Amino acid sequence: MRKLGFVAAATLALMSSSAIAKTTIVYAGHLITDASKPAEGPSTVTVTDGRIVSIAPGRTAVPEGAEVVDLGDKTLLPGLIDLHVHLTGDPGGDYRSEAVDPDEWGVVVGAKNARVTLRAGFTTVREAGSAQYTAFSLRRGTAEGYIEGPRIIAAGPPLAIIGGHGDTTGFREDIHAVLDQGYTCTGAVECAEKVRKASRAGADVIKITATGGVLSQQGRGLGAHFSNAEMESIATTAHSLGLKVMAHAHGARGIESAAAAGIDSIEHGTFADEAALKVMKAKGTYMVPTLMAFEGIRERLGKGIYTPTVEEKVRMTLNDVGKAMARAKEMGVPIAFGTDAGVFEHGRNAGEFALLVKYGLTPREALASATTVAARLLSMEDEIGRIAPGLSADMIAVDGDPLTDVRTLESVDWVMARGRVAE
Ligand SMILES: [Zn+2]
Repeated sequence: MRKLGFVAAATLALMSSSAIAKTTIVYAGHLITDASKPAEGPSTVTVTDGRIVSIAPGRTAVPEGAEVVDLGDKTLLPGLIDLHVHLTGDPGGDYRSEAVDPDEWGVVVGAKNARVTLRAGFTTVREAGSAQYTAFSLRRGTAEGYIEGPRIIAAGPPLAIIGGHGDTTGFREDIHAVLDQGYTCTGAVECAEKVRKASRAGADVIKITATGGVLSQQGRGLGAHFSNAEMESIATTAHSLGLKVMAHAHGARGIESAAAAGIDSIEHGTFADEAALKVMKAKGTYMVPTLMAFEGIRERLGKGIYTPTVEEKVRMTLNDVGKAMARAKEMGVPIAFGTDAGVFEHGRNAGEFALLVKYGLTPREALASATTVAARLLSMEDEIGRIAPGLSADMIAVDGDPLTDVRTLESVDWVMARGRVAE
């Protein structure tokens, strides 16, 4: 601790000599620095210019000019990470609105949802598919502080097969042509081209729809869409650019070929069977179960919100929710936290924790899935997911102990993201 104190003092001296360093002292009754470690008692975390500089037991003295946040008896823990959100959309609504609303409207909706998501304790989100530059604009908006919201790791428009989940379906051909986002591909060469195009546009991650999806109008079930050759081309090209690939996938064979192709995470993974999970385990593929998505869908079923095509696909999935995740855990497939917020109301993201526990994770594993494990999948372990010197000051506070009761995470009292307190 003495050594850390020295580093902190040195950092402060350096900062005050260069510019107006802003230091915040955070006192908390309990501290979880890392989901894999036991909680500590009363502690002080010092933050300077958006970074954690030191952690000390008890209440340390306040340096001159520093701000103080006293969280009383609350538990301070790392900011949460949701690896699968759609900020630019809200649940419900007519699918035909995509032919009416301009892309820019998505930024307005997204600014509203970014704020709600941050206040729910999520200091980093991975935007899993949105129109053109909408998510990239939101990413810049929260990074530069123009709007309040989490750090955004953005995919932009997903790669899809023509007429697949992620492309438009159910309109006239001339309408499809107008709505085309420019990211469908056929064959290995064109799919490589679209990965490079996404990279050029500013994608942090490549999103593909590897199989059919529940909420699109395409009516050919939930089986594999891309060919093996196409998925291999997408994975290889993305990795050559330093980008990871996240694949929306429900059907078992689509999951298996996506994992075999080297795709980094399977989103949903609904019907993953023994064979598919074996390949995921062998390849180190993560599963992002998005159990909250199915809650959102269940709440809306039979209310005239979904078209008959969609309702039929919904009914295919609901009996199997959670089964693949439970098997994945038994087989040692890493499980990372993602919700598909946008399919249900933004801000309810933390409802996923109780579902993860219901289907077999311990509370500690559930918290790790949204902190250390998620950070590892993003290759950002040295930036987010823990409270440690040098990392971004992304922290939240709750009443009670989330390592005993994950439902405490559903009411987050205080949030700091990149050193800024959400007011
Ligand atoms: Zn999604």
